[in-house]
Amino acid sequence: MNTPGQARNGGVRWALWIGLAAVMAVVVGLYLYFDLGRLLTLEQLKASRDGLLALFQEKPVSTVAIFFAIYVAATALSIPGATILTLAAGAMFGLGVGLLVVSFASSIGATLAFLASRYLLRDTVQGRFGKQLKPINEGVQRDGIFYLLTLRLVPVFPFFMVNLLMGLTPIGAGRFYWVSQLGMLAGTAVYVNAGTQLADVNSLGDVLSPALLGSFVLLGIFPLIAKAVVGWLKGRKVYAGWSKPASFDRNLVVIGAGAGGLVTSYIAAAVKAKVTLVEGHKMGGDCLNYGCVPSKALIRSAKFAKQLKKAGALGFEGATAQLNFATVMQRIHRVITDIEPNDSPERYRGLGVDVVLGHARITSPWTVEITTPDGQKNTLSTRSIVVATGASPFVPPIPGLKDVGFLTSDTLWKLKELPRRLLVLGGGPIGCELAQSFARLGSTVTQVEMAPRLMGREDEEVSALVAAALREDGVNVLTGHQAVRCEQEGEGEGEGRDATKRLIVKHAGAEHAIEFDVLLCAVGRAPRVTGFGLEELGIALTAKKTIETDAYLQTRFPNIFAVGDVAGPYQFTHTASHQAWYAAVNALFGGFKRFKADYSVIPWATFTDPEVARVGLSEAEAKEQGIAVEVTRYDIDELDRAIADGTAHGFVKVLTAPGKDKILGATIVGEHAGDLMAEFVLAMKHGLGLNKILGTIHIYPTLAESNKAVAGAWKRAHAPQRLLAWVERFHAWQRA
Ligand SMILES: Cc1cc2nc3c(=O)[nH]c(=O)nc-3n(C[C@H](O)[C@H](O)[C@H](O)COP(=O)(O)OP(=O)(O)OC[C@H]3O[C@@H](n4cnc5c(N)ncnc54)[C@H](O)[C@@H]3O)c2cc1C
Repeated sequence: MNTPGQARNGGVRWALWIGLAAVMAVVVGLYLYFDLGRLLTLEQLKASRDGLLALFQEKPVSTVAIFFAIYVAATALSIPGATILTLAAGAMFGLGVGLLVVSFASSIGATLAFLASRYLLRDTVQGRFGKQLKPINEGVQRDGIFYLLTLRLVPVFPFFMVNLLMGLTPIGAGRFYWVSQLGMLAGTAVYVNAGTQLADVNSLGDVLSPALLGSFVLLGIFPLIAKAVVGWLKGRKVYAGWSKPASFDRNLVVIGAGAGGLVTSYIAAAVKAKVTLVEGHKMGGDCLNYGCVPSKALIRSAKFAKQLKKAGALGFEGATAQLNFATVMQRIHRVITDIEPNDSPERYRGLGVDVVLGHARITSPWTVEITTPDGQKNTLSTRSIVVATGASPFVPPIPGLKDVGFLTSDTLWKLKELPRRLLVLGGGPIGCELAQSFARLGSTVTQVEMAPRLMGREDEEVSALVAAALREDGVNVLTGHQAVRCEQEGEGEGEGRDATKRLIVKHAGAEHAIEFDVLLCAVGRAPRVTGFGLEELGIALTAKKTIETDAYLQTRFPNIFAVGDVAGPYQFTHTASHQAWYAAVNALFGGFKRFKADYSVIPWATFTDPEVARVGLSEAEAKEQGIAVEVTRYDIDELDRAIADGTAHGFVKVLTAPGKDKILGATIVGEHAGDLMAEFVLAMKHGLGLNKILGTIHIYPTLAESNKAVAGAWKRAHAPQRLLAWVERFHAWQRA
C-alpha cells in the first residue's frame, strides 16, 4: 500500500543517502590517503606551535575562519583529533577566543555528524531493532536532555560516538545542539586552557587528572540526581496537606469487583498482600451482570432463531418454533447465576481476599471509607488504592428522552416482553449486537446512528458487511441520522398501546419521525468517576472523562492507581484484567520496579453474525498514521469447512510490513472470528510472522485453516519469481 507520494519521498531519500555517503567516503578517503592523521598529534602540534601563532597574528580573521571550518569538518566526519584541535585553539587563540571558536565549531560539527547518522542510518537501525530499541526511544523522548547532558559533561564518553548514537534516537536536532554546547563547555574550557600552556603538556593524559575526571563525573551525574530529587519533591508536593498514617491496615484496597478489581485483588492475595476488595453493587461488575455475559446468552437464542429460519436448507422442511421471550430471559439470568460463583465473595475470600460489600469512598490518599448496606461506616488505611469502578451507559441529552422512557444495557435485562418495535440508538458494537439479536427474535428494529457508518472504528468494508448482515436480519439501519428529540402522544408506559412514542431524526437536512415502543440507548459508556472522593482529592480526568493515569496506571497520587473502563483507553473485560496485573504489581512492588502497561497487542471482537475481530492496525489506521503496509486477504467463501457449515462468508485480512511477513494487524469477519483471532494475537505478541503460521499444521477441516490460507496467499505473492524461473529450467533440463 505504498502511495505514489511515499514512493517519491523514498526515491529522494535514497538519492540523498547515496550523495551524503559518497561525500563522506571521499573526504575520509582523502584523509586516509594523505595520512592527515599524522598532523593531528601532540608532537606535531607542539612543533608547529610557533608557526601557528605567527599565522594567527598575521591574518587573525582568515586563520580563525579556516580553523573553524577544519574543526567543523573533522567533527562532522568523526575524524579522530578533536582533542588536538582543541589544544591547538588554546595555543593559537588563547582561552577566550579559543573557547568561543571551539564551543561553536564542535557543537556545529557534532550536530552535522548527528544529522548524518540520522539520515543515513536511523531508519535502517530502527526498522531492524525497533522493538528492542523501544525502551531506549521512550527513555530518550522522556529524559533525552538529561542523558545527553550527562554524556557531554563526562568527557570519558567518546565525542563522535555520542553524536552518532544520538542521531539514531528520536531526540530533536535543535535540542541536541544546545544541550551539546552547554554540556561540552566545561570540558572544552579545560582543554583550551591546557592548550594555552602547551609546553607543559607532555601527553593528553596530563590534561585530565584523576581528580578533574572525578569532578566531571560528579558534574555529569548531577542532572540525573537533580531530576530524581525534583521527581521526589514533586511526589511529596502532591501529598502536602494530607497526613500519612504511621502504619496501614492494608497493603491494598481495591474499589469495584468487576474484571479489573477482581483480577487486581486476586494477584495481590496471590503474592500474600493484605488486600480488601470493596463492591458497592454486584460482584462480577458489568461484564457478568449487564454486559458480556447476558448479551452473549441473548445472542445464543437469537442465533438459534436464525438457524431455525434456515432449517430448510439443512433438510428440515417447515421447521418452526414459538418464541417464549420469558424463557429466553430466564435462561440469560440462569447463565449469569451459573457463572456467578467464579466471581463470588466466597471464592475470593477463599483465595485470601478480604471482600467487603459496600460503597467505597476515598477520604485521603491512604484511607478508604466503606459504607455497608446497613449504613455502618468503617475506614481502612492502606498503602495503595486501585480504582476499578468501571463505566455506566452514557445517556445523551436528547430533549424528551427521559419523558418517553428508555432502556440501557443496565436495565434491558429486566424486560418482560419482546418489544414489538425497538429503536436502538447507537451503531457501535453493543448497539449492533443487540439490534441484530432482537431483530432475529422477532422485534421490528430500527437502528439509528449519527455517523455515516456502523462500527466506525473498523475499516469501511467491515462496516458495510455488518450493515448488510443486519439488514438481511430485518434491521432498518439508518446511518447518518441524528437524533433530535423524542415525542410522546397519549399516556402509558412500555409497549405503546396507550401512547405513541417517536424519535425525531435529522437526515440530509430534513427531519422525520420514527415510531417505537421501546427505545434502547447504546451510545457509549461513561466512566464512573463521581461520588467516591476523586473530586475531593483533585484527581484529574482526561478529555474522554477517564481517570488520568501515567504509563504505570498511577494517578497524580503515585499510590492511587486506576484500571479498566474507568481508566481507559479501552473498554473491554480482557483489557481491564490485563491492566490489573500492572496495577497490582506496581502498587505492591513499585518501590523496587515498576512496569508500564503494554498496549502493543490488544485484540477485540464484536459478536454480531458474522463476528468481527481485530488485533493491531486496521487499513484505515495504517493510512492515517502514514504506516506503509501490505494487505493480504483471504475470502472465507473458499474455505471447505465454512462451505460445509453454510457459513461461507467474510474474510481474513492481514497487514504486514512491506516485503516482510511481520504482522502489523489482522481483521477477521466471519463465524467464530473472535476465536480465530487468537492465533494472530499470539503471533503478534511473540513476533511470529506469516511464514510461521504457514509452517504450522492446522486441523482439516476447521475454520482456523483460514489463518493458514491467508498466510499462504501472502507467500504466493512473495514467491521468488527469478529463482522459480531457474528451477523451471532445471526441471526442463532434467526432462531432456
Ligand atoms: C452490553 C455489553 C456488552 C459487552 N460485551 C463485551 C464483550 O463481549 N467483551 C468484552 O471484553 N467487553 C464487553 N463489554 C464491556 C465490559 O463489560 C467492560 O469493559 C468490563 O466490565 C469493564 O470492567 P471493569 O472492571 O473496568 O468495570 P465493571 O465491570 O463495570 O466493574 C466496576 C464495579 O465497580 C463497582 N463500583 C463502582 N463504584 C464503586 C464504589 N464507589 N464502591 C464500591 N464499588 C463500586 C460497580 O458496582 C461495578 O461492579 C460489554 C459491555 C456491555 C455493556
